[in-house]
Amino acid sequence: MNRENHGRSIEVLTAMGNLPTAPYCEGAVIEWLLKWAERLGDSAGVRRDKVGNVYVEYVRGKRSSAPLVIEAHLDHPGFVVTGRARDGTLRAEFRGGVRPSFFAGARAKFWHEKRWVGATVKRVRQVNGKRALAVELTGVKEKLKAGTLGMWDLPDATVRRGIFAARVCDDLAGAAAIVCLIEQLVAGKVAGHVIGLFTRAEEVGFAGVLAVCEGGWIPRKARVIGLETSKASAAGGGAEQGAGAVIRVGDRTGIFSAGLTHFLAQCAGHIGDEDSDFRYQRRLMDGGTCNSTAFLVYGYDSAALCLALGNYHNMTVKGEIGWGDGAKAGKGIASETIHIDDFTGMVRILVEAVKRIGTYQPGLKVVRERLSKMYREEQAAMFVKSPV
Ligand SMILES: [Zn+2]
Repeated sequence: MNRENHGRSIEVLTAMGNLPTAPYCEGAVIEWLLKWAERLGDSAGVRRDKVGNVYVEYVRGKRSSAPLVIEAHLDHPGFVVTGRARDGTLRAEFRGGVRPSFFAGARAKFWHEKRWVGATVKRVRQVNGKRALAVELTGVKEKLKAGTLGMWDLPDATVRRGIFAARVCDDLAGAAAIVCLIEQLVAGKVAGHVIGLFTRAEEVGFAGVLAVCEGGWIPRKARVIGLETSKASAAGGGAEQGAGAVIRVGDRTGIFSAGLTHFLAQCAGHIGDEDSDFRYQRRLMDGGTCNSTAFLVYGYDSAALCLALGNYHNMTVKGEIGWGDGAKAGKGIASETIHIDDFTGMVRILVEAVKRIGTYQPGLKVVRERLSKMYREEQAAMFVKSPV
């Protein structure tokens, strides 16, 4: 990994990780992305769909009927103001998966007229039949409009000993990986057809991706690679932070495309052949269900890469990865963390995938050919020579 890519990775991660976002409230991130994409000039085309997902399309050489679609989501679990009680208590809903026990006394902040306004959680409760939690907060003097987004009151992003800590890694780190990928394709004049797909509202049940699938807004034959951050495990069996990007074979619900997953492992293997320091992991990350399962059930050739995430959804637990890293906004609320080397490794696998996707055939045809050749050329004769 060259120094320039490393520095740029931290720059993009920091810029994006500091943006305000929440499910259905991704406006600030989308604004940042559109400005970034504008600077790419003719190197990439940008479009939006009916629900606001962003597509950044890179074509150099031939257009493909089966482009590589690299997807990441732009939202993160957060608050959205719903109103105000007579006594001034702020009412909000919390969208996304954070357990109510983590809310007690925690500090939040709301994005009001381009600055943060602090608040403290007073009460949280589950409302029957609703996905979002109902939260009451105190200490807010400003009149916040309904629809104003809030996040945990955590500081801007930092990098210490390779650990990137921010209010949000899930999934703006995935989105940042697509940004870095496209920049590297442009700089390296790499031939290929890639659609960077930035989706909305994953944390409330894959809404942005479901809109893409229902609407048929990407080509039927697209090869889809979903990028995520996914809970790192403290011990044994799971993914480790700093041990390389994870080729995610599946999630809590689905097992992804065997062929495309194998292709990604081969790409990582090729990088490893040339750089003995390069590391990657291949794991089932079954802490949650991700967008790649949504693509899968709609019939897309779908695989996934992810980064081992500390303090998943800002919940920090003693003994788990992330504990002690980053700042806190309450007893159990902290910045999410990833390892920078895992991030740059993920982008490297993606660049390699773009270079090699021309050789990819869906399914495991390549493996079948290899095994069948081995049988015909070596093993069949052995059976004849060694009868039992
Ligand atoms: Zn996510």
